[in-house]
Amino acid sequence: MNIIKDFLLQLTLTITPVFIYYTFITEKIKSDKSRKVLFSIIWGISILLCMSFPVSFGQNARLDLRIIPLLFGSLYGGLWPSIFLSALIIFYRLHFGISIGFYNTVLVLILSLPVILIFQKSFSRSKRDKRVKIAVSLSFYYSLFGLTIFIILRGFSKNYLMVQMIELIFAVIVTYFFTILIETIREIHNLRVEMQNTERLRVISELTSVFAHEIRNPMQATRGFLQLLNDPDLPLNKKEYIKISIEELDRANEIINDFLSFGKPSVNNDEKVDVGYQLRRVVNIIQSYSLHHNVKIHTDINEDCWMYANHQKLNQSFINILKNAIESMPNGGIVWITCTSTDDGYIKITIQDQGIGMTKKQIDRLGSPFYSLKESGTGLGMMVSFQIVRSFKGKIQVNSEKDRGTEFIILLPRIS
Ligand code: ADP
Ligand code: MG
Repeated sequence: MNIIKDFLLQLTLTITPVFIYYTFITEKIKSDKSRKVLFSIIWGISILLCMSFPVSFGQNARLDLRIIPLLFGSLYGGLWPSIFLSALIIFYRLHFGISIGFYNTVLVLILSLPVILIFQKSFSRSKRDKRVKIAVSLSFYYSLFGLTIFIILRGFSKNYLMVQMIELIFAVIVTYFFTILIETIREIHNLRVEMQNTERLRVISELTSVFAHEIRNPMQATRGFLQLLNDPDLPLNKKEYIKISIEELDRANEIINDFLSFGKPSVNNDEKVDVGYQLRRVVNIIQSYSLHHNVKIHTDINEDCWMYANHQKLNQSFINILKNAIESMPNGGIVWITCTSTDDGYIKITIQDQGIGMTKKQIDRLGSPFYSLKESGTGLGMMVSFQIVRSFKGKIQVNSEKDRGTEFIILLPRIS
């Protein structure tokens, strides 16, 4: 009975790091590299705990589920985490003294690690079902190897064999459920990212039709001037025409650039971003959309507000909020945008409209998926904005009064 208890403790020790990792790390840590390092450290801690509270039986014989963290660290992390975790196992085992158990550990590792690494490549390319099969087979292989080497080194005993068999069955079952659990969590995570992308594409497609005007206007103006330049009885202000044409073309170019950068999927999550500058670009992108809705945008933007973020995502969250503000005024009106730094280390952005406003109940529902009061709304814009701001450790406050207007206050951590 004690043995089963010990195994259950082992189970807890291996399962806790997974939850810690997926609850506190995957979404919060932005850079891939630090995520990988933390990932290895967490699995490393799991290995140390497993080895510190082993299932003890017989003389100087210890058994534990270290295969679980080793296996998952290697399969999901790749070469370096696997080397780190193996080295950790060997050094920690050394700390208990060089005994037959130590040789046992080293031998099993030498024989099974290369096999795990060989399968790691096909694991990372495979779909969920195949991943489960690979992980379970490797866990079975490792435990069987452990069992065989144990018998070779220490001789056969019925009691030992029974404990080893329990370990094997335990390891295989735990691996099976673990892989499914991790895969499910990863799927949910990917789905979220995909949803953000879909919403961004939808916003782009909505903006493009109005955006086309914005490009056409300067083109038409320039064309008119070129025609004039061709006129032999050209009035005197030739230079002026050329100057205006160049300005118009530059503006069109700027809009295209802003638009393209907004549409690109983003990679770097940790760049230094000037929030004020980005806010201006967002206003540029949305300008034609707002004019189309008879809405004027007034800005008071303080540049030189820097933070670590991903500028595309940040812009996406601004655009979603701004678009709602514009849409909340069916008869037109004014949107005020401000951006300042606060004394307590934040960048404060406010976006205020004179629109239809929201009741307390509506504010509470804001940000839940598919909540929309618009006929053709998706109800994803606010959810995405909240997610993005939260991922940059920021906050959003909403003040609103029915039929008076709404104010969004976005607080983002500033680089001091
Ligand atoms: P969608 O715009 O597709 O409806 P959102 O998630 O962007 O979805 O917004 C959800 C809902 O929140 C909107 O349908 C609207 O009712 C409400 N809302 C958001 N912003 C404002 C605002 N500035 N003024 C009034 N209502 C708003
Ligand atoms: Mg919206």
